[in-house]
Amino acid sequence: MSTVPHLINGERITGSGRTSDVFNPATGEVSGKVALADRATVQQAIDVAKAAFPAWRNTPPAKRAQVMFRFKQLLEQNEARIAELISREHGKTIEDAAGEIKRGIENVEYASAAPEVLKGEYSRNVGPNIDAWSDFQPLGVVAGITPFNFPAMVPLWMYPLAIVCGNCFILKPSERDPSSTLLIAELLLEAGLPKGVLSVVHGDKEAVDALIEAPEVKALSFVGSTPIAEYIYSEGTKRGKRVQALGGAKNHAVLMPDADLDNAVSALMGAAYGSCGERCMAISVAVCVGDQIADALVEKIVPQIKALKIGAGTNSGLDMGPLVTAAARDKVSGYIDAGVAAGAKLLVDGRGFSVPGHENGYFLGGTLFDRVSNEMSIYTDEIFGPVLCIVRVGSLEEAMQLINDHEYGNGTCIFTRDGEAARLFCDEIEVGMVGVNVPLPVPVSYHSFGGWKRSLFGDLHAYGPDGVRFYTKRKAITQRWPARKSHEAAQFAFPSNG
Ligand code: NAD
Repeated sequence: MSTVPHLINGERITGSGRTSDVFNPATGEVSGKVALADRATVQQAIDVAKAAFPAWRNTPPAKRAQVMFRFKQLLEQNEARIAELISREHGKTIEDAAGEIKRGIENVEYASAAPEVLKGEYSRNVGPNIDAWSDFQPLGVVAGITPFNFPAMVPLWMYPLAIVCGNCFILKPSERDPSSTLLIAELLLEAGLPKGVLSVVHGDKEAVDALIEAPEVKALSFVGSTPIAEYIYSEGTKRGKRVQALGGAKNHAVLMPDADLDNAVSALMGAAYGSCGERCMAISVAVCVGDQIADALVEKIVPQIKALKIGAGTNSGLDMGPLVTAAARDKVSGYIDAGVAAGAKLLVDGRGFSVPGHENGYFLGGTLFDRVSNEMSIYTDEIFGPVLCIVRVGSLEEAMQLINDHEYGNGTCIFTRDGEAARLFCDEIEVGMVGVNVPLPVPVSYHSFGGWKRSLFGDLHAYGPDGVRFYTKRKAITQRWPARKSHEAAQFAFPSNG
């Protein structure tokens, strides 16, 4: 059985010998193993990155960008191969995997604009014969720790931009679906990136702690669950590192009485059940303003949930694949049990779902609860599965209060034809990414991605303009070239234009 290796200095190495199993979620079989890095292996990657930094830092941004142009081409040429690997280890459908690769490529395109985004700011004559400019310089060695649910896209939120800004990057991907992430990193080296500039170390807490504790690592980007995000943020910042740690979510969609219901139902189906609900932007709560829209929603959506096409994600034409692991499936099942016990009305039950020929796969059917209230665990917790909860409220204000009171604030959306309601919602909702008749408002690569409240720890969001700020240090330079033969007397008052 093959072991997915680390990638350090362009070499595939397996390191200490500790490994963990990688599963095919559609069959329940172990499909391979992945190496788990110990501290020495992580240090090896750090040493290589540190050695590569001086030359990479001084490589012209336009040349760094040229590597990204070639990388983009290689990603496009290899899209089918990458999607197949994602689907085999993650379980998502092949079409969904292709979608995440395309969104990842958009981040490579943004990074290809390096000379533009790193131009800095310039002011002439800020004082007599004095010019000033701001320069954006790389931090040095930076690291990223990524979740299982987007093994291609989330790493691509991070390292193309970090690298184009002149940093050297160490990626610690999810140990649950490592193969596509490794292949993509190898494509970047094939595109001409100097070997030490990007390394991949697989692993668990030991590898992550080694990155947190290493003084050479100047910044950490994390995407994953909230408890680990909070841990990484507090441990990293305690050591003086720059940290952006994106966590979990509970995303609400508000249905106003005037919503275009057919389109809202289609949008909810994709956003709640796409990728089996294993997206940090998945909609998991439908907040219906009034019983009339709630009843109409139930009537239209129940048959569609029952008709979901579910199977092995590698077969095309499906709506949903399996959950990522048996533990993930059992956790989601446990939440459905808890919802029933708490008195929510279970309208569609996905428990015990089986796909003929894949009886050992980690499948669940789409699940729908009505009459959910805000103290139930199916409402408070991130379930991360194909479960949609309907909460009924009396007004938009009540819907917004509910959302604002939730501990998470990643994404949300409103379905309405009323511009005034939409504007109020956009203005006052305490959530980082908002959609109006758009169920998954994931910002495009030239905007930045991030939630509020306990969905993000740190100040800067991921990718886009915030990503450039995160991966660079600003340096303000003030320069005077006095006119020949002029003499400046000593000044003891604070210099000013006054
Ligand atoms: P996770 O937190 O279990 O793992 C994320 C990463 O942290 C992995 O690389 C993992 O190896 C590492 N890790 C796990 N336990 C650790 C520990 N004790 N110490 C140090 N490192 C540890 O998350 P996951 O299950 O892979 O991903 C799903 C979660 O990620 C969900 O909560 C989802 O909402 C969230 N997510 C958030 C965003 C976002 O942008 N906000 C995007 C994608 C996923």
